[in-house]
Amino acid sequence: MSNRSIGLDETVHAYLLEVGVREPKVLRQLREETAELPNAGMQIAPEEGAALAMLVRLVGARRILEVGTFTGYSSTAMALALPADGHIVCCDVSKEWTDMAADAWAAAGVDDKVELRLGPALDTLDDLLAADQAGTFDMAFIDADKGNYEGYYERALRLVRRGGLIAIDNVLWSGRVADPAVRDESTEAIRDLNAMIAADERVDVAMLPVADGLTLARIR
Ligand code: CA
Repeated sequence: MSNRSIGLDETVHAYLLEVGVREPKVLRQLREETAELPNAGMQIAPEEGAALAMLVRLVGARRILEVGTFTGYSSTAMALALPADGHIVCCDVSKEWTDMAADAWAAAGVDDKVELRLGPALDTLDDLLAADQAGTFDMAFIDADKGNYEGYYERALRLVRRGGLIAIDNVLWSGRVADPAVRDESTEAIRDLNAMIAADERVDVAMLPVADGLTLARIR
């Protein structure tokens, strides 16, 4: 008997989805549509969507920043958990993927809460900082190109208010971060960020082994 977190086998995972996730129909449909795409693995897991929605509610978030929107699963899950006057700024570079996201936002009835910013997210975040948006967000979700993770994190630290939350996806990177023999750019970038955040006095941190690893960093 061990109290380690471990990867879930198919049976346990199916059970978790059955009793631990209330996946709205619009998200189930989006997941099925996205599964047809070659990049389907970039979509977050349903249990992660439920976790993000729960975090939105726990933080009492009204303004959210998302870096990496893909086809919209995480933004839709979070937008559904926002109050009626909530707002989420979504950063992505792909019109093709975010067109699917826009369909999901409309189907979920949350399109009036979503502001899509197409373009390199570092530029968008710098634009937000230049527009005096520092400290105006309650929560950020970072799930984009891993080479820029540290740049996204540093900007999110300024854009999110004190006591707010930064959630970062794929921090376990299928376990590759724990294997020193793996030295590709994405793995190194995540590994470096994980080590930096572990010692970062600006935040409280908890790394959760949900899906591919989700770091929660609460700004002190
Ligand atoms: Ca991801």
